[in-house]
Order: sequence, then C-alpha cells, then structure tokens
Amino acid sequence: MSSIVPKNEGKLTARYASRAALMLPSEIRSLFAVASRPEIVSLAGGMPNLSALPMDVMASVVQKLVLENGTEALQYGSGQGHPKLREQICEIMALEGIRAKGDDIVVTTGSQQALDLITRIFIDPGDVILAEAPSYVGALGVFAQYQANVVHIAMDDKGLIPEALRDAIKTVREAKRKIKFIYLIPNFQNPSGVTMPASRRTEILEICRESEIFVVEDNPYGLLGFDGPTPNAMRSEDSENVIYLGSFSKTIAPGLRVGWALVPQAVKEKLVIANESSVLCPSNFAQLTISGYLANEPWRDQIASFCDLYRDRRDAMLESLDEFFPASATWTRPKGGFYVWVTLPPEIDTKVLVPRAIAAKVAYVPGTAFYADGFGSWQMRLSYCHPTPERIRQGVKALAGVVKEEIDRRSNETPKLTVR
Ligand code: PMP
Repeated sequence: MSSIVPKNEGKLTARYASRAALMLPSEIRSLFAVASRPEIVSLAGGMPNLSALPMDVMASVVQKLVLENGTEALQYGSGQGHPKLREQICEIMALEGIRAKGDDIVVTTGSQQALDLITRIFIDPGDVILAEAPSYVGALGVFAQYQANVVHIAMDDKGLIPEALRDAIKTVREAKRKIKFIYLIPNFQNPSGVTMPASRRTEILEICRESEIFVVEDNPYGLLGFDGPTPNAMRSEDSENVIYLGSFSKTIAPGLRVGWALVPQAVKEKLVIANESSVLCPSNFAQLTISGYLANEPWRDQIASFCDLYRDRRDAMLESLDEFFPASATWTRPKGGFYVWVTLPPEIDTKVLVPRAIAAKVAYVPGTAFYADGFGSWQMRLSYCHPTPERIRQGVKALAGVVKEEIDRRSNETPKLTVR
C-alpha cells in the first residue's frame, strides 16, 4: 500500500517555516476519499446537489460570455471584484434585509478565502476568536493556522446563548486576552442546522457592540430555507460592526469559487490589499459567468428548486432518524441548509464508530471535527444534501444499526446500579 507521506518528508520538515506545523489535514478530508466510493451512502460531505442545476443553461451562459465578452472575461480584473457583479450581489442581499452599496463589497475566491483574509487582517498569535459550539470545520482550520485561540460558546436550539456569551467575554478579558471577533453562522448553521431567531440576533449584536467585538456573520445557506421566511441577516441591523460573508457555492455552483465580504469602509481597504496579494484578482471568468446567469436567467426560481430538492432530503433524513435511531439519541430539526446534528449518549465515541459505519456502507463526520478543543466525541454531523431520499433512508438505517449495537455493547459492559 502506498504511503500518503511523501518521500523525504522527514528531511523536508526541518526546512519548513514554523507555521507549516499548523497546516494539518482536516479530519474530514481523509474520510471523504472513503465516503466517495459508490457503495457508501455519504452523509459526510456538504457538497451541493448540482443535479438540479440546468447544465444546458450554464453552457449557454458560458458560451455567450466567451463569444461576446471573452477579452474581458479571460483578462485580469479588479482586486475588489467586478463592479457589475458587486451591484448584483446587493440585490441578492436585499432579500435578507441588507441595504448596501457595491463599493462596500469585496469579491473573493469562495467565502473560504474571505475567512482566510479576514483572519489574516485581524489575528495575531494568541488572540481570541469566539465561535459557536460546534462551528464550521473549515473556519476552525483557518483560525488554527493563524494561531488564534478559539473560545467556543454554548448553543441551544435557538443558536448561541447570549448569557454564555457575556460570561465568556468576562472570563477572557479577566485573563487579559484580546477578543478580535465572534464568528457566527446564524442561518441553518454548519454543522448543527440551527437558526437563530431575530430577537436573539438583536441581543447578540448589542452585546458585541457594547464590548467592541466585531461580528463575522457567515451566511452561505441563508437563501436555502424550506419552512417559511428566514430572519433578516444580522448585517441588516448593524452596518458598522458586522462583517458579512456570502457565497454563490450553495445557490449556484461551488466550482465557480465566487464568494464575497460586505465590510465596514475601514476594513475594505485592507481586505482589497490582502485579496490582491493572495490572488491578484478574483477570477473575472467566474464572476462574469455568475453575472450573466443572474442577469438573464430566473435565478430565484432556481434557488426555489434547490430548496424543494433539499427539503425532500431533509424530510427523508428526519423521518428515518425518527424511525430507526434509538430513544437515547437526540438530533436537531433544521428548517433549511444541509445538516442535522446528532447527540448520542456521552459514553459513545463517534470517531471509533467510523470504520464500523463504513463497513455498514454509510459515512458521517464525527463531532470532534467541529470543535477546536476536542469536545463533541459523542456527537456527529449528518448531511442530507447529496444522496437521494431512498439512499438517505438506507444510510440512516445502517447507521442506526451501528449505533444501537454500540449502545448495547456498552450497556452490557457497564455494571448496572441496583437499587435496593
Ligand atoms: N462557511 C460555511 C459555513 C460553509 O459551510 C462553507 C462551505 N462548506 C464555507 C464557508 C465556504 O464556502 P465557499 O468557499 O465554497 O464559498
């Protein structure tokens, strides 16, 4: 079997900069290689389901772009992003109550790059970033590489708990640590699927304003609500203290790699410079493809058809969890997005169960991937975005078998308390 460690890696390590030691593969990456085998039902990845994207339409958008405007599309562009697309992004954000100018937007190579650049601008080693418990694994990876200290804040079924936020700010400041920002995913959170109601958004914004802590609002799933209206974005209430991140990955296609940051004026200049040093300019070709699609195609209907597709899958997952999972497990009931978060009895280690789940032909992501501090060993993320409803049912049933077997094994192992 070939090794994944390159030859001479030992010798090379001595030559790396010290920061390379922080560049570690995510827990999820190695899992994806296995999960993508066709016989496995993958409830692991968060890949959008492009079966609902009309490829003939995309092909004609690209063809028209290259034939009619190829010299611009295939040329370098602005470090801030294409002005036309920035105006169109304002229209999209208006759906979430945001009033903004194109000039306040910086287009990035996916919102992942915006996360990287924002962290680069704000974080010195040892600075504190507050984040939900659990939080997005890709953001935690960025924060680790910049040597941030992530302090997780407890959530309930309405998202981050304001009281826990107040306590954390007090504790961190008593320890004389600097809090640079709080990272939040208020809509259909990755990984928990939870959505924060409007009143809680307002309360958290107030706490952060009073405490002079920037809010980084990451909102790639906001338009993928299935059950009625989604609360307005936090940015709609506070344009001075919120850095808003958006993305076309979930509403159009992740392969185009186009996201954006809507930032206060003071931050914009730094962000453009950071963007230029990172990529010179975001891809003009990808931006103009999206721009052409938004200008000429019924994109609102397309998002609605994505929502229909994901709603069916969400329903299939919740119904099969209700039917097959043991009574000692609990899970969230998302109103949009891609994910359900499952909590098992605390003695069950979801990392240990991965190989058994794979043997039963189902994959998921163990909970520890979503915490910076190793917490969450009895939790797991299940995503319903990709497999068909039938495959989801099959996968959840197989996983329930693995979980029940482990719970039974454990209960036979542990001596029972007898009450006399
Ligand atoms: N934020 C969150 C919460 C995500 O789930 C993802 C993708 N899974 C991203 C950011 C990055 O998305 P992209 O770079 O494709 O815009």
